[in-house]
Amino acid sequence: MDRTAHDVVIIGSGIAGLRAAIEVARASGGKADVAIVTKVQAMRSHSVSAEGGTAAVLYPELGDSFESHVFDTVKGSDYLGTRTR
Ligand SMILES: Cc1cc2nc3c(=O)[nH]c(=O)nc-3n(C[C@H](O)[C@H](O)[C@H](O)COP(=O)(O)OP(=O)(O)OC[C@H]3O[C@@H](n4cnc5c(N)ncnc54)[C@H](O)[C@@H]3O)c2cc1C
Repeated sequence: MDRTAHDVVIIGSGIAGLRAAIEVARASGGKADVAIVTKVQAMRSHSVSAEGGTAAVLYPELGDSFESHVFDTVKGSDYLGTRTR
């Protein structure tokens, strides 16, 4: 069995995993050896399906909030999605 060693191993190559890899690279000044392990290739992750733009709470100082993010997400599902928190 082949073995490899890395400073950081990230599971998943969706937007969360790739963003985490970028942040590790930035925080370490490019010195960290980062590996991404994934079940499907990057272009098969759900992140690629987000056609309406990736929604997030970016500007809380302008009135954006987690609550409005949740409302927009549930509304975007035609109220078929449910809030779990
Ligand atoms: C059809 C569709 C449309 C969407 N539209 C929008 C939209 O318009 N706007 C929006 O904001 N959001 C949208 N979403 C939601 C958005 O895509 C997800 O919330 C987001 O992509 C999640 O990112 P993620 O990195 O957490 O997960 P994913 O992109 O799902 O990535 C998960 C990764 O984990 C890997 N993985 C899973 N299991 C294992 C395992 N056992 N071992 C190793 N790797 C594993 C997978 O291979 C994958 O790379 C949509 C989702 C879908 C399905």
